[in-house]
Amino acid sequence: MEMKESEIKKEFTHYLEKLFPLNRSLTGKDNIKSLRILKEIIPLNIKKIRSGSKVYDWTIPKEWNISDAYILDKNGEVLISHKNNNLHVVGYSKPMNSFLNWPELKKKLFYLEENKKAIPYRTSYYNNDWGFSLSKNEYDKIKRSPGPYKVVIDSEFKNGVLTYGDFLIRGNSKREILISTYFCHPSMANDNLSGLLVSAFLARELKKKKTKWSYRFVFVPETIGAVAYCKLNEKKMKKIDAGLVITTVGGQGKYGYKQSWDKDHQINIEIEKILKKYNEDFIIYPFSIRGSDERQYSSQGFKINTASITKDKYFNYKEYHTSLDNLSFVTGSNLLKSLKLYNSLLKKIEGWEIYEVKMKNCEYMLSKRKLYPKLGGSYKEMNNGHTTSDIIQWLLHLSDGKKNLDFISSKLGVKKNKIKKICKLLVNKNLLKEI
Ligand code: ZN
Repeated sequence: MEMKESEIKKEFTHYLEKLFPLNRSLTGKDNIKSLRILKEIIPLNIKKIRSGSKVYDWTIPKEWNISDAYILDKNGEVLISHKNNNLHVVGYSKPMNSFLNWPELKKKLFYLEENKKAIPYRTSYYNNDWGFSLSKNEYDKIKRSPGPYKVVIDSEFKNGVLTYGDFLIRGNSKREILISTYFCHPSMANDNLSGLLVSAFLARELKKKKTKWSYRFVFVPETIGAVAYCKLNEKKMKKIDAGLVITTVGGQGKYGYKQSWDKDHQINIEIEKILKKYNEDFIIYPFSIRGSDERQYSSQGFKINTASITKDKYFNYKEYHTSLDNLSFVTGSNLLKSLKLYNSLLKKIEGWEIYEVKMKNCEYMLSKRKLYPKLGGSYKEMNNGHTTSDIIQWLLHLSDGKKNLDFISSKLGVKKNKIKKICKLLVNKNLLKEI
């Protein structure tokens, strides 16, 4: 790394503190503000799509903004105030201004029985509802306070926009690697300020280099943003084979990685190599249909093998989706470590050598090109049970423009330089092309 590690760590801390207080959601002013802050790190393209736009089976929701929200007791004493924590108001709550008694109010209060100090994160994106989240201690306090309670939510829905960002690093090859992260969570550090910042810093590092592949960095609100992004960039997204969703990379627990939908894909193999190289004791999370934006990228139409390296993966730490996922849980040094892991991973990916067979319909007639033995036994040299002729046919069979030579070499159990030599021969004969 060109910058000193201590400086990067400081920068991480600076941006954690700057971005943490913002009330991000699917849409809204603080989403734009967050992207503008990221623009200090990389020249992000900030884009928007209008409320009501159809994106496949989804519709871009109205823009939601909130300026204040609170609950007062009978004497006007403040019991809960949105100013103290963004998580206090259920995301996308509709406006409210009324007096409620305890049985009415308690139905709209969300807390965690098991952790009396934590405020849970709740949203009501598509239900036109409202609610308050609070700790069990706060809940008990309200219960003891005199009602009726004045409940105010000063929020508005309008026909506005959903904002997102992207940034393309052009490499020698037009082939793209997808790197996606989401920024719809308010005031939680691991989920997903950590992913947001590691992505931006990774893009900044990569931008300084001459790269082999092109890299598409995507910053979207989770799910709806990824769906919209796929819709708006369908042609390009359909050409991508491998990607990463950067999320929950800054916690205090173990590293882990969520495998892409094809567990044998080279992206998973590389991640395991990196985690082993760094001597990390890591957890493997097999691909699951529950998760982040890899759900969209892995859908039938796109089939991008998208994996995630995590440090305290979403769902799997006790502070997850609560007010305890805060700036004492995530530190600049954890982010720095994750940045280094992702950097090493990208270095590995940069080393991929990928070929594609030029004619895809049936086999080439190899004998007229002198690539097929005239008599049985012409190619005597055996490589792990394969003759040279076998390797030629395997290479033509496996070179789909996605699999790299390391992958093919370990699949066949044949040394990479042997494979590479034959590859060059096939390129000279105009049967394969390098991607
Ligand atoms: Zn989340």
